[in-house]
Amino acid sequence: MGAGATSGAAPIVPDAEREAVAAALGRVRARIADAEIRFGRAPGSVELLAVSKVQPAVKIAAAYAAGQCAFGESYAQEALEKQAALRALPLHWHFIGRIQSNKTREIAAGFDWVHGLCDLKHARRLAEQRPAELGPLKVCVQVNTSGEASKAGLDPAMVADFVGECAALGRLDVQGLMTLPAPSDGLDAQRRPFAALRSLRERIATPELPLPVLSMGMSADLEAAVAEGATIVRIGTAVFGPRPPVR
Ligand SMILES: *Cc1c(COP(=O)(O)O)cnc(C)c1O
Repeated sequence: MGAGATSGAAPIVPDAEREAVAAALGRVRARIADAEIRFGRAPGSVELLAVSKVQPAVKIAAAYAAGQCAFGESYAQEALEKQAALRALPLHWHFIGRIQSNKTREIAAGFDWVHGLCDLKHARRLAEQRPAELGPLKVCVQVNTSGEASKAGLDPAMVADFVGECAALGRLDVQGLMTLPAPSDGLDAQRRPFAALRSLRERIATPELPLPVLSMGMSADLEAAVAEGATIVRIGTAVFGPRPPVR
């Protein structure tokens, strides 16, 4: 807590906000639970990451009041401001955006997890800049499962070596793989890139680096992701409603 802090209190959440977010969270939890049953997954094996990018801190406080502790943010500066406003709450922060070299220090210090690592230069910076008093930074390596040149993520053929190089840096704890496929309609089409991530994990996991985490699935395709073994689904719109336009 900074010396200049005026108050450690979390934002006051209006009742209507609290109820709206609690109801939406309940619906998303029910979707996850239904998908776990439908696709033979163990109950409780899929973790919900609430993606709060571009949403105000008060909505995060509302979600916390409804039992949600893990939040995903995409813009480092915006996230730091909200983290400061919410520092009274024991929240877990996941960075899920595109990493910029000039933001790695803030990300290494301010987040528990980074999804979307796919550049060794960023990995080195995050490892060097992770504060000594914090444990290793948990990371997921982003894989391009759609084969489009414009999408971020590593070519699947590069992933095994990259995972090994990240793990060798010491201050990164490589938890698994992440993907953000192009949107598609229909369960079968949505499952394809998630199946590719799952089978890549099966091929490259080792006893030393078992890569237990598959971070995949968003509001529109969470069922497909659960069907293919997601352990973390990253859900924004279905929890918080439509995002306000990015600044
Ligand atoms: C915004 C975002 C999400 C959440 O998307 P929704 O469709 O709102 O659920 C998930 N993952 C990443 C990487 C994102 O940027």
